[in-house]
Amino acid sequence: MTETDGRTDFIREIIDGHNSTGKYGRKVHTRFPPEPNGYLHIGHAKSICLNFGIASDYNGLCNLRYDDTNPTKESQEYIDSIKKDVRWLGFDWEDRELYASDYFHQLYEWAAKLIRDGKAFVCDLSADEIREHRGTLTELGKESPYRNRSVDENLDLFERMKLGEFPNGSRTLRAKIDMASPNLNMRDPVMYRILHAHHPRTGNEWCVYPMYDWAHGQSDSIEGITHSICTLEFEDHRPLYDWYIDQLGIHHPTQIEFARLNLTYTVLSKRRLLQLVNGGIVSGWDDPRMPTLSGIRRRGYTPEAIRAFCDRIGVTKSESIVEIAMLDYFLRENLNRRAARVMGVLRPLKVVIENYPEGQMEELDAVNNPEDASMGTRKIPFSRDLYIEQEDFREDPPKQFYRLAPGREVRLRYAYFITCREVVKDSSGKVIELRCTYDPATKGGDSPDGRKVKSTLHWVSAKHSISAEVRLYDHLFTKADPDEVSEGQDYLANLNPHSLEIIREAKLEPGLTKVKAGDSFQFERMGYFCVDPDTTAGHPVFNRTITLRDTWAKIEKQLAR
Ligand code: ATP
Ligand code: MG
Repeated sequence: MTETDGRTDFIREIIDGHNSTGKYGRKVHTRFPPEPNGYLHIGHAKSICLNFGIASDYNGLCNLRYDDTNPTKESQEYIDSIKKDVRWLGFDWEDRELYASDYFHQLYEWAAKLIRDGKAFVCDLSADEIREHRGTLTELGKESPYRNRSVDENLDLFERMKLGEFPNGSRTLRAKIDMASPNLNMRDPVMYRILHAHHPRTGNEWCVYPMYDWAHGQSDSIEGITHSICTLEFEDHRPLYDWYIDQLGIHHPTQIEFARLNLTYTVLSKRRLLQLVNGGIVSGWDDPRMPTLSGIRRRGYTPEAIRAFCDRIGVTKSESIVEIAMLDYFLRENLNRRAARVMGVLRPLKVVIENYPEGQMEELDAVNNPEDASMGTRKIPFSRDLYIEQEDFREDPPKQFYRLAPGREVRLRYAYFITCREVVKDSSGKVIELRCTYDPATKGGDSPDGRKVKSTLHWVSAKHSISAEVRLYDHLFTKADPDEVSEGQDYLANLNPHSLEIIREAKLEPGLTKVKAGDSFQFERMGYFCVDPDTTAGHPVFNRTITLRDTWAKIEKQLAR
């Protein structure tokens, strides 16, 4: 039996095992350890939900720990964005905002201890030479000629590295393990490099910085982490982390690796995301097309949807690619319940109701959310001049097209039946207006004589509507696997040139005058839309979060077969 409400996975099973033998008492302490070298993405959400979720399931704790060992790539902007994103997802690290840089002094002392124990040495080989000496999977490594320096010489040189006597790249501190190990990570790995660089937190205090592999495991140990959960690529690093901790004789967390999240039509690597930002391919880290948490938040994704998605995908040991449609499914589920319905016409076509008195206006009742009666109703204005969606009219309707066409009657949502009587065109032959009549007896949307119509259209009253900019998005990449390219190309060759479409003059119902960034609505029949922070007084900007079409349901059916 687990303590996790029936939900379980191989990681929780390992923890249950530890709890039953009392390996760490019954303590469970995890951490989410980002490197502040970019914004978090949806893959990080999987790790956040896992680490904070496990801590909460077992009444334990989860730290937010920055692995800030690489000052040239890290910044305060990234540190701040990470906090904002974790909080937005709904998790709380309380007072445990921690940094590997808080441990630089301790790490330095431990490195000196390894030197004194004859387990680390200062090496004068260049980075290239170290690489050449390392060997390959099929070829043994070669020992560094500096490997057998005396303890005193090593201590002296390490101290002087710290004091800043030597230029970048001239020396390193390396662990003395085994150049013949089948695991390349164990072939005398570098522990410290010389880097005369300003650090966002420690400023100019240091000019030697610990390598990630030297800092990460010890940081976990210092924090009393019981379960160090990380992605599969660290499996080969585990023997090294174990070695360091065993040499130092300090608290030993259990490292457990799981498969990282991969999503179709998406790249999830900070290096690539940075490339998209720096190359001006997107407007920034929070471009609504980006898979970053700041991007999808701006787009209108909700933390509830992301958490439900992460719960559903679970954790495994084998690499896989998750359909982005599955994320969309959870998003629609959540927005369907919470988003208020409104009417908005993206590409307006004028409709004049010829038998409706000029200058007259009436207010009709509309339901705010059929999924949630507590959201109430609202009044929407109806008048002689309306807008409907251009795509809801065809002069020459194909067989399956049941919307408006010459002579045909349709329902206007919450209003009346109307019949198209005449089509007005401009000199180029483009349809610019429809002359229609309405049936006053059908108010509210039903005909007392039982007459049926085959479709219901959304609309707004022309005079009462407001104009808005609407941004429509598609996948950033045209291929499910952005890495599927011809020779000599890279993933950028699969960029979707139509990933953003801007509509300058959509027409929305007047209730949308007072909206603020982040508000979400369903524009009936057109999808879910979220107010963008570019909105200013008199110029609302909406992002389409997602359409209403549910491709995931289809995929699920296929999977069930
Ligand atoms: P990227 O490879 O995307 O650049 P990273 O692994 O370098 O990311 P870190 O800041 O080191 O980014 O990641 C913090 C934590 O998030 C790590 O524990 C890492 O394993 C985890 N993580 C990163 N990407 C994913 C992913 N796609 N799925 C699940 N967990 C991830
Ligand atoms: Mg990393």
